[in-house]
Amino acid sequence: MTERWPDPAQSPAADLLRTLDALERASDDAALPEATRTLLGQARDALLATLEETESERQRYRALLDAVPDPVSIIAWDGTVLDLNTAGVAAYRRPREEIVGKPIEVLNPDLPKDHLGPVWAALNRGETYVVEVTNMRADGSRFPVEVHTAGFEYRGDKRMVAVARDLSQRWQAESRYRLLLESIDVGVILFDREMHVISANPAAYRAIGAEPGQSVQNLLRPGDWKVVDARGRPLSFRDWPTTQALDYGQVISNTVIGLYYIPDQRMSWISVTNVPVFETDGVTPEYVFAMFSDVTTLKRDNVLFDRAQGLAHIGGWEWDRGRQRLYLTHEAQRILGREPSPQSVDALIAGAPASDRARLRTAIDRLIESGGSFDLELQYMRDDQQPCWVRMIGEADTADPGVSRIVGTLQDITERKHAEESLRVQARTDPLTGLLNRDAILVELDRRMQDPANTEVAVLYIDLDRFKVINDVLGHAAGDELLASAAQRISTAVDGEGLIARFGGDEFLVACQYADAPERPERIAAAILQALSESFRFDNEEFTITASIGIARSPDDGVRPQSLIQNADAAMYDSKRRSRNAWQAFTPALAQTQADRLWMETHLRRAADNGEFHLVYQPQVDLQSGRIVSAEALIRWQNHLLGELRPDRFISHAETTGDIVRIGGWVLREACRQAADWRNAGLGIVRVAVNVSYRQFVGEDLADTVRRLLGEFGLPGEALELEFTERVLIEDAPDTLRNFAELREMGVMLTIDDFGEGYSALNYLRRLPIHGLKLSQLFVEGVPHNHSDVAVCQAVSGIASSLGLGLVAEGVESEAQRQFLLRLGVPVGQGFLFAPGLKPDEFARRLLQEGYRPAAAAH
Ligand code: C2E
Ligand code: CA
Ligand code: CA
Repeated sequence: MTERWPDPAQSPAADLLRTLDALERASDDAALPEATRTLLGQARDALLATLEETESERQRYRALLDAVPDPVSIIAWDGTVLDLNTAGVAAYRRPREEIVGKPIEVLNPDLPKDHLGPVWAALNRGETYVVEVTNMRADGSRFPVEVHTAGFEYRGDKRMVAVARDLSQRWQAESRYRLLLESIDVGVILFDREMHVISANPAAYRAIGAEPGQSVQNLLRPGDWKVVDARGRPLSFRDWPTTQALDYGQVISNTVIGLYYIPDQRMSWISVTNVPVFETDGVTPEYVFAMFSDVTTLKRDNVLFDRAQGLAHIGGWEWDRGRQRLYLTHEAQRILGREPSPQSVDALIAGAPASDRARLRTAIDRLIESGGSFDLELQYMRDDQQPCWVRMIGEADTADPGVSRIVGTLQDITERKHAEESLRVQARTDPLTGLLNRDAILVELDRRMQDPANTEVAVLYIDLDRFKVINDVLGHAAGDELLASAAQRISTAVDGEGLIARFGGDEFLVACQYADAPERPERIAAAILQALSESFRFDNEEFTITASIGIARSPDDGVRPQSLIQNADAAMYDSKRRSRNAWQAFTPALAQTQADRLWMETHLRRAADNGEFHLVYQPQVDLQSGRIVSAEALIRWQNHLLGELRPDRFISHAETTGDIVRIGGWVLREACRQAADWRNAGLGIVRVAVNVSYRQFVGEDLADTVRRLLGEFGLPGEALELEFTERVLIEDAPDTLRNFAELREMGVMLTIDDFGEGYSALNYLRRLPIHGLKLSQLFVEGVPHNHSDVAVCQAVSGIASSLGLGLVAEGVESEAQRQFLLRLGVPVGQGFLFAPGLKPDEFARRLLQEGYRPAAAAH
C-alpha cells in the first residue's frame, strides 16, 4: 500500500498552504516586512485557487468515475487497487475501504499468480488488454466480466485503469446458445469470406472427423475434398452451396451434397443449409453459417429404396403443403418422364384430361379434410406428348394432425392399361371385319343416347340382300371375303361421319349424329348403296350384291338403343319388302305396322292354347280329269277380335317369334289326325300336304316328330306330304339333309313350294332327296299371255321332267291356264278353278261326290 490516489488535503499544495498559514500567524505583529507579507498573501491566494481548482477537478473525476455503470478501478502497476467507483462497490458488494489498497486478486481470486505479465506487455505496447475473467463478491459468489485494461501515467508512475463489464446476462444467453450448439446433432461452422473457419461446434468436428484438438480449418483444405451433388455430379468450388450463399447473399437451404475426403477415401453425405451473415453494409455477406447434418445412412437407405423402387417401378412422392413443395423420388421422375413444377401437386399429372385433374384434386381435398388415403388411376401426358397412365396412392401422414404432408406412391400402369385396352378393343371388335361388334355398338349407342346434349342420333340398319345365297353357292370363305369387303366399302362410304358395327351375319349398323346435318343419315345410306353397287370379285367370279337400309332417328323413333335399332330394322325390312337395294326411313305408319305386329304376336302366342286355329283343305286335282288326287292343308286363325285371319297375315310373325314351331307342330298333328279320320271313314284320299316352315327344321327334330305322329295315327308315310320353301335349304340347319333322308325313308313325300320365286339354285335340287316341285302361282298367274311367265313355267317344267320330279301348278284360276299347263305337260293343279281351301266335312263331301273309295287313285 505504497501509493494512493492524491487526496487534495494531503497534497504538497495543501502542506504549503498550511505552512503559509503558520507563517502568517507567527508574523502577526508585523515582524515581517510589508513586501514579504504581500508576497506571502499572493502566494496563499494562488495556492488557494490551485487547491480549489484541484478539488473541483477531483470532484469532477469522482463524478465521472461514479457515473460509469460498470465497475472501474484504478490500479497501480504492481496490481494494488488505488480507487474504485460506485458501480464497483455495488458490483463487489463490499465497502470501498475493503478494496482500495488491496491487491487486485481481492477481486479476481481465480487469476493465476503471474497474470499481470501479459497485461503489462500489452500496455507497454500501447494496446488495451481485454480479458474475460470472473470477479468475486464479498460473499464469495462469482460473476463473469470482460475487463478492458488501459495504461496511463500519473506523475511519472505507470497506472492502470480497468473497466469490468458484467457478462452475467450476455453469458446466460450465450451459454444457452453454446449449450445448444454443443449438444445439437447439427454441425455448425462459421466461415468468413475467405472460407476460413471462424468456429465449429462439436457436431461439426464429429462430422468432419476432426479430433477435439485438431484444427477444422486444416481438415477443410479444399484440395482434400471432392464435393458432389445429390446425384453424384461433381460440384466446382463456385457451385458449393456455401460459396453460393456468400456470392448471392441468400439462404441456400437443405441441399444434399456428398463429401469425399480424398486422404481417407471416405464418402459421406450431408444435408446443408447455408445462412449468410451481413455485418457492415447489409449487402455483402461477411460470414456464412453452414449448418449440416449427416445423411449418409439416410442416403444409403434412400439409394437402396430408390433401387427397390426402380426394380418395382414404383415411385414415391411427397407433397409438403406447408412449403407448397412436391418431392419426387428418382423412379417417380423416371415414370413421369419429366420434372414437374415442384410448386404444385397437380403438376404431377399436368396435361391430363381435366376430369382426371379434378379427381386428383378432390381426392387430396378429401384427404386433407378427413384423412385416410386415396388410390387413383390417372392419365397424364409425357413431355413427348405420349399419353400415359399412373396409379397414384396417397396417404396423410398419420403422425401429423394438420395433414401438412401427403405421401404416396406412383406406379406406371401404362402397359397394363394398354393391355386392358387392347383386350377391350378385342372384346369390342368383330374379328372378320374389324368393325365394332354388336355388344360394343349397343354400349356405345347407350352411352351416346344417355348424354342429354346428344339426343339426335340416327341409326342405319343395313342388311345385305341375297347374301345367304352367295354364302351357300360360293362357300363360307367367299362369304367371309364378301363381308369383309362390304364392311370396307361401308366404312369408306361413311367416311368417319358415324360409328360402324357388324350387327349380325350380314347386317351392319351405322350410328351418326344428325343435329348439324339433318340429311346426313340419308346421304350416308345413299353413299353405302352406291359403294356396294360395284361388283365384287372372288376367284375370278364377279357378282353383285345389294343392300336394304332402314333409318331411325332418336328421339322421334326411339329414345333407347333397343327401340331405335328395332325401328331401323322395321324400316329396313319394309324397304326390302318393297324393293331391294334401297333405303327407307322409319315412319309413323311403319310404327303402326310395328304396333300391329306386336299386338298380333301377343295374340298369336295364345292362339294355339285357345284352340283358335283350324285347317282348311284345298284339293289338288288331275288337270286332265279334274279328279282330286290329294289335299293341301292351309291354316286359318279364327280370333274373336280379328275375325278369320289368313296365314299371310301371321305366319311370318310366328316365324320371327319362333311360335311357328309350336303352331307347325299343331298343324302336322291335326293334318295327320284328319287324314286318319278320312281313311277310317273309308274315304280314298291318299295324301295330305302340310306346309312346313324353315324354322321347324332349325328348332327341332322334324323327322322324329313326323315318325311319332304317323305311328300315333297309324298312318303310312305315303299319307303325308311336306311342302317347304327354298329358305329351308338356305338356312342350312345342320340336320336338314339327315331330316330329309329320314323322311324320305319313311315314305313321306317332299316338295319344294313356290318354286321359281326364291333363289332356285339348281344344285340344291340335285343334292336333295325330293319328290316334286310346286310351280309358284306367281308365274301361273301370267300364263298364257305374259311371255316371261310362260318362259319360267316352261323352264320349271323342263327342270322337273329332266330331274324326274313331279310338278304341281298352284293358283290355277282359269280354263286358259289349265289348258296351257296341260299343253306344257304339268299333270296336277291346284286353284280356285277347282276349289278354295275347304272345311274338312266340305272336302269329304267332294270326295264322296267324286265317288272315292278306300285306297283309290294314286299321284
Ligand atoms: P301356299 O303354300 O302357296 O298356299 C297356297 C296359297 O294360295 C293359299 O293361301 C291358297 O288359299 C292360295 N290359293 C289357292 N288357289 C288359289 C288361286 O287360284 N288363286 C289365288 N290367288 N290364290 C290361291 P293361304 O291359305 O292364304 O296360304 C298362304 C300361305 O301361307 C301358303 O302359301 C303357305 O305358304 C302358308 N301357309 C298356309 N298354311 C300354313 C301352315 O300350316 N304352315 C305354314 N308354315 N305355312 C302355311
Ligand atoms: Ca304350300
Ligand atoms: Ca305356294
